[in-house]
Amino acid sequence: MEEKQVKSAYKELAKIVGEKYVSMDKEDIMPYCRDEVSQAFKTYMADLVVAPGTVEEIREILRLCNKIKLPVYPYAFGVSISSTALPRVGGLMLVVRRLDKILEINDETHTATIEPGVTWSKLYFEAKKQNLEPLGLGGGPHSGSLIGNFVLGGGNTGGIDINEEVACEVVLPDGDLMWTGSAGMKGHEKLNPWCRVGYGMNLTGIFHGCLGTYGVVTKVLRRLYPLRNIEERVQIGFDTFEDCLNGMKDLIDLGISKQVYGVNKAQAAMIAADSEIIKDPVEYEKYENIFPEFLIVDKISCYNEKQQTVYKELIEETISKYGGKIVSFSGKTQDALMELWDGSSSVAIRYLRHNPHLMAFAMLPPSMLPGLREITKKIMKDLDYELTTFSNKTIEHPRCWITPWERNESYLFEQEMEFVPEDPVSVKKFLEFQKRYYQESAKYGSSQINAGFLKRLEPMMWPGYMKIIRGVKELLDPNNIMAPKQMLKDI
Ligand SMILES: Cc1cc2nc3c(=O)[nH]c(=O)nc-3n(C[C@H](O)[C@H](O)[C@H](O)COP(=O)(O)OP(=O)(O)OC[C@H]3O[C@@H](n4cnc5c(N)ncnc54)[C@H](O)[C@@H]3O)c2cc1C
Repeated sequence: MEEKQVKSAYKELAKIVGEKYVSMDKEDIMPYCRDEVSQAFKTYMADLVVAPGTVEEIREILRLCNKIKLPVYPYAFGVSISSTALPRVGGLMLVVRRLDKILEINDETHTATIEPGVTWSKLYFEAKKQNLEPLGLGGGPHSGSLIGNFVLGGGNTGGIDINEEVACEVVLPDGDLMWTGSAGMKGHEKLNPWCRVGYGMNLTGIFHGCLGTYGVVTKVLRRLYPLRNIEERVQIGFDTFEDCLNGMKDLIDLGISKQVYGVNKAQAAMIAADSEIIKDPVEYEKYENIFPEFLIVDKISCYNEKQQTVYKELIEETISKYGGKIVSFSGKTQDALMELWDGSSSVAIRYLRHNPHLMAFAMLPPSMLPGLREITKKIMKDLDYELTTFSNKTIEHPRCWITPWERNESYLFEQEMEFVPEDPVSVKKFLEFQKRYYQESAKYGSSQINAGFLKRLEPMMWPGYMKIIRGVKELLDPNNIMAPKQMLKDI
């Protein structure tokens, strides 16, 4: 943008939010133009950053952006890890963090009404006071928002389902305000916003994962779950990938789990090791070997010991069919694993402690995951792509994360493809891997939950599907101010 335009936009924005909350200084803007994997890609830079404090201010900002055709990118905490919060064409970063209130925790409907700057940990600690909890993000950082998390679909909800958002309030690109679900009827946002699908269609779904391209989500009703007297995380080890997947599938079918998810050995060790062990390759190798090939957790929630005993018997009976064993560790290792299963921020840091990485995702039924893992291995071999751990030994398969996302229908399988940002050869291989992985995994049958992939995959989609995606964007945002080029190549 030309300097004159930037200065004039700055003045208008300052009238809305006050000078303290808007800036056109590079040092202020830059932190909002990055995410974990953006180091491997082109650098993007916005022209301005604004941090509104109310929904009304957001409405006014979007009206202004429409008037002066200023591109605007919503941004919460920037931990999306999928390069989805970057200012692709410059413009304005709209930071929603100041809207950080939990407006209600409803004991009857087991929901929380939250603003977009509420972090997972804030909700977790507040809900706990009322014996409720949101389902964890798994490895996800507590410091990210639950609304930005829309990009991935609401965290891993193993064995339950993906629809953690009941309804939302959105500021549309023209500044208009609306609610979804039963709150789609005016006034029902106060009277009865608790029916997820209102009036025939699930409109929450179109704002769920749209990367800010259809509007700014300003409130969400998020599901909570009761905390019972006994909340236990049962850790189970398996020897092979197939056994692990079969075990997870049967555990979900038992219908007694709050959440189930798992990691491979390299991932478990990387997260659990303390900072001294990672400095010594020999010690680290020994440490890695205390973990089973696959380690999963089955969270159970029980009213009393009688229920707990029955549940654990059922679990043991189920996993024994696949050679699974209940395992525990000692000291700091066990503490770190408990943080992992609860999705603590410190775990997120350890998750990323080796080299920056891209999470190569797949969504497939469990029986198809071993095939995908082999495809990954083949691409790595073709590209001579080497992955190591702190032991300096090469690993055959990337660190991974496995989550039954929607009961047994679709598992999220995430493989951490590391790269060394300062090494151009490593970055080149990483980019080549990415291209091939997404093409070949799609050919194999994998879907992607992140709308950012539509940029690459549009030619493979049904024309009618894209007509709706594009049509909604054109209808809601004729001036294309909302997050241009985040979801699609041209708009
Ligand atoms: C180590 C690690 C592990 C992770 N594991 C998981 C996991 O297990 N499960 C999981 O679901 N996620 C996981 N994630 C992803 C991350 O936790 C979520 O994407 C995160 O909650 C994003 O929140 P954020 O506030 O940082 O969003 P941002 O990164 O700021 O934004 C993400 C996207 O949402 C849009 N957006 C943000 N706020 C709004 C709004 N109010 N209205 C409209 N659009 C908006 C942005 O424009 C952007 O496109 C992981 C991330 C890391 C770093």
